[in-house]
Amino acid sequence: MTEQLGSQSTSIDPHADDNTFASFDPRDSTVIARYSVADRTAVDSAVGDARTAARWWDQLGFSGRQKVLRDFRAAIANNAEAMAAIISAETGKPADDALLEVMLALEHLDWAARNAQKVLRRRRVGAGLISANQSASVGYRPMGVVGVIGPWNYPLYTPMGSIGYALAAGNAVVFKPSELSPGVGVELARLWNIAAPGHPVLQTITGDGQTGALLCSSGVNKIAFTGSTATAKRVMATCAETLTPLVAECGGKDPMLVNTDANLDAAVSFAAFGAVGNGGQTCAGVERIYVAAPVYDAFLSKLTAALTDARAGDSDSATYGPMTLGKQTAIVRGHVEDALNRGAKAVLGGLDSFRGPFIDPIILTEVPENSTAITEETFGPSVVVNKVADMDEAIERANASKYGLGASVFTKSSAQGRAIAERLECGVVTVNSVLGFASIAALPFGGVGDSGFGRIHGADGLREFSSVKSVAVQKFSAPLDLLTIERKARAMKISRWMLAKRHG
Ligand code: NDP
Repeated sequence: MTEQLGSQSTSIDPHADDNTFASFDPRDSTVIARYSVADRTAVDSAVGDARTAARWWDQLGFSGRQKVLRDFRAAIANNAEAMAAIISAETGKPADDALLEVMLALEHLDWAARNAQKVLRRRRVGAGLISANQSASVGYRPMGVVGVIGPWNYPLYTPMGSIGYALAAGNAVVFKPSELSPGVGVELARLWNIAAPGHPVLQTITGDGQTGALLCSSGVNKIAFTGSTATAKRVMATCAETLTPLVAECGGKDPMLVNTDANLDAAVSFAAFGAVGNGGQTCAGVERIYVAAPVYDAFLSKLTAALTDARAGDSDSATYGPMTLGKQTAIVRGHVEDALNRGAKAVLGGLDSFRGPFIDPIILTEVPENSTAITEETFGPSVVVNKVADMDEAIERANASKYGLGASVFTKSSAQGRAIAERLECGVVTVNSVLGFASIAALPFGGVGDSGFGRIHGADGLREFSSVKSVAVQKFSAPLDLLTIERKARAMKISRWMLAKRHG
């Protein structure tokens, strides 16, 4: 584990000569702590230790691992307030939001630990008619060491979607948190040590993107990356050099579709939360809203009213905190400017919503679909509300994006909600809620297109960190023996007859 070098430092130089960097509170730019930048030696050493620990972890078996994961979960829960305080300090999000993040992360850890055996234990599969003399089974072995690279926006919940499932599947994990949230990663590794002292099955290495790149080329058996699409491409290129498999959880541009029969008050409440919750810095947050024409005006005026008093701020009573990543402010502003320059209207806020690292809510309407406010991930508290004729047009516009992470649909009829969900090209759809999937650990999560590939969470999330091992056991000689160099003419005659009968 990378050593934390001190709780307060006077230097604000992010990369000082002593090979350390500082973490900041984005609300006021004060330095929280300094951490070392893991170099090649440090990364390789962590991966080497993880490899040794992985053998111990593997031989514990499902039930032994479940016990340790239960202790790990308890250690996190017993230190939840302290963990939330670190999350809050490093991201600037209000304390309650940070605590909810801890709670969600624990739900996933719990599910992964409890379900690993059921999902991954060896299971029999039918051998089929022509192989009836064999017994066939599929098992899921740990891959070895998984490198987890995480973002800063949900610095515990998001990486836990990989860490918890990779651990439960029997792997050791080396975690590289974002340089904006190293403290969360260091605290997580400390809590692991309470659960399994002396067994570095989970370690954290701190550093910047270069440290992440070193992890990708360290010989780990898989990389679980969560972050932007642009970085995912770099990560994939590095992984390609060593044929290291990758699961990529990237950005999104999630649409919300509001049908004429929707409960507008509920839709507005979820829209407000999905658009500005966590300052809009949510991969599956609501960035585009397509509302059916008959209810458009009513929806817009209700949403405007709902967000009028919402404010970014540095106190726990603020609706949400600052932009955690300083340069994100310019991206959000750029999208708003681009929309306005192309004829869009700001019905709430606008360019005057920007106050240093804080951005108050912005609602844009009549935004051309080729504006960056529609085509690129904004990752801020600015939302587009565009009018559509009906749900067919809404689906068409929703699917026109290069991203495909999540989507939400608001309609009275569950059947219609499900039907629309089937037509949306993305990884997860919620009907009559937003982000409702996040607390359902059994649901796999991931995207299509520029939102990435592979799945975390649920049974698929456990399998994502497993290596499939198939075994075929011959129980007795086959009546029709084809796997021989002395194949009989009679066997081929029967084979020809069977081929025609079964498949012709
Ligand atoms: P980044 O892509 O900037 O960084 C993600 C991680 O990759 C960080 O730990 C970063 O380190 C590291 N990294 C940077 N360069 C490299 C490299 N060359 N090789 C290996 N690792 C590298 O994303 P953000 O942290 O800014 O997170 C925001 C993004 O994450 C948004 O696009 C958001 O949508 C997405 N996201 C996706 C989620 C999902 O589940 N689909 C969930 C949450 C967020 P460092 O920070 O130290 O530079």
